[in-house]
Amino acid sequence: MPVRHILKFPQEEEGLRKKSKSVKRNDPQLKSLIQDLKDTLATQDGAGLAAPQIGVHKRVALISLGQDNEEGMREPFAIINPVITKKGSPKKGFDGCLSMPGWMTWDTKRPEWLEFRARDENWKPIQMRVEDIDARVVSHEIDHLDGILFLDHLESDSKLFIVRIDENGEEKLVEITQLLSGR
Ligand SMILES: [Zn+2]
Repeated sequence: MPVRHILKFPQEEEGLRKKSKSVKRNDPQLKSLIQDLKDTLATQDGAGLAAPQIGVHKRVALISLGQDNEEGMREPFAIINPVITKKGSPKKGFDGCLSMPGWMTWDTKRPEWLEFRARDENWKPIQMRVEDIDARVVSHEIDHLDGILFLDHLESDSKLFIVRIDENGEEKLVEITQLLSGR
């Protein structure tokens, strides 16, 4: 099962903007799509990956919960046709995206907690409540299924950064907020 190419912003924005379609239970490509997502995410430092990011416009995403836990992130699992059923009030926090490597912000508003339902890869119903960073991951991945990028949540006072390697070979955050003007 191959590691797939991840569409990148802005060069491949068109594919990232397309809305994904609901998955049918008997979709013959579903198993291999989920495997491809797992193989691809395994090569990346990320807590989630949505099918449209590998160019498949179906409502499937992988999420990995517990990225802030001491024991580390848990194994990613698939959520199919996810729907948010309840959510708390919006709170500013961190966002990064495998389609925008190196870009990050601490200023996107996402629900403090949310409840969602979905199907798992065996088509069993999932119903879950997630909080804090986990709620942000679920919200971010569901956004991808609707063609929404974290940039869309930035406001006029939000700051956007990119990681650069400085002359000493160290990672440095450079503010690139000004790139947003005119979008
Ligand atoms: Zn993303």
